Amino acid sequence: MTATRYEGNKKISVVEGCKKAPKANEVTVEIAYSGICGTDLHIFHGVMDERVGKPHIMGHECSGVIEAVGSDVSGLSIGDKVVVRPLDPCGACYACQHGMSHICYNLNFMGVDTDGSMQSYWTVPASTIHKIPQDMDLKNAALVEPVAVAVHDVNRSGLKAGDKAVVIGGGPIGILVALVAKSFGADVVISEINPFRLGFAKDLGIDTVNPTEKDLVTYVNTWTDGVGADVCFEVSGSKPGAMVMTEVVKTRGKVVLVGIYGQPAEVNLKQMWLREVELIGARVYEDIDYDLAIDLVAKNDYSFDKLITKVAPLEELQDILDGMDTDQQGMKVLVKC
Ligand SMILES: [Zn+2]
Ligand SMILES: [Zn+2]
Repeated sequence: MTATRYEGNKKISVVEGCKKAPKANEVTVEIAYSGICGTDLHIFHGVMDERVGKPHIMGHECSGVIEAVGSDVSGLSIGDKVVVRPLDPCGACYACQHGMSHICYNLNFMGVDTDGSMQSYWTVPASTIHKIPQDMDLKNAALVEPVAVAVHDVNRSGLKAGDKAVVIGGGPIGILVALVAKSFGADVVISEINPFRLGFAKDLGIDTVNPTEKDLVTYVNTWTDGVGADVCFEVSGSKPGAMVMTEVVKTRGKVVLVGIYGQPAEVNLKQMWLREVELIGARVYEDIDYDLAIDLVAKNDYSFDKLITKVAPLEELQDILDGMDTDQQGMKVLVKC
């Protein structure tokens, strides 16, 4: 049993022997792979020290095999291949009582608010487990969590086949939103300024535009015969993204806010009023998003696996995270647990 712990100040320690037996309603998962998310990097950089306890085990994008099952758990067996939906809601608040427990007012986001999957065994509530096909590749399965984010974003938008969608931001989530939108039958363009990410999206067959070279609004107007896109996904979390998001959609078009804004940002509300634009927040995922994400990743018709740009052992987490600060040429790094 090996676990990695964030100790503060960009320090990761590797510790042995802290496996927890499952309580009655829990299972223990032998973690196969755990993906590194932007959130993990934020934790590593100390940006989230006020929220994250120390020492802290990071990780919330994982795949694995059930190793032990609590006495009250039914429908899950030792040896099942699974992924974890890392949300532990309170069950009592307004959101939980109205079918929106994924955005519980008191949500425990596992891996951030409590210990996560960057360890060889993770003991979690059985309610967070989704079984995956027994022949599914466990490396690809570690992508289910970020793909479920993208599925939720697309589901929130009401996107239909034949719609045109603009995705602002071409990082891992932006690319996954574009691929999921394509799987829904939409025409998609990604707006991104980083040359590596532009090339990466192009290699996956996604159209791209660099707004520092071509004005995004002009580009979209030409693409849509002056109508505007049906949906814009703002994934960048940037001020220019917030400013332009209401300007690229058609009358009664939809803007889905995916990026996280730590600070308030300016929005062109006049355009929102003029075109009766709908602004929709989208955060994490629901059960049904996970089910579709598992299906999409298992079939892999949209080459989700190409996002995995590196796989390295858990013991090297310190080096991996140090390296990610200097090397921006990666997409999704998986840690083999
Ligand atoms: Zn994440
Ligand atoms: Zn709640």
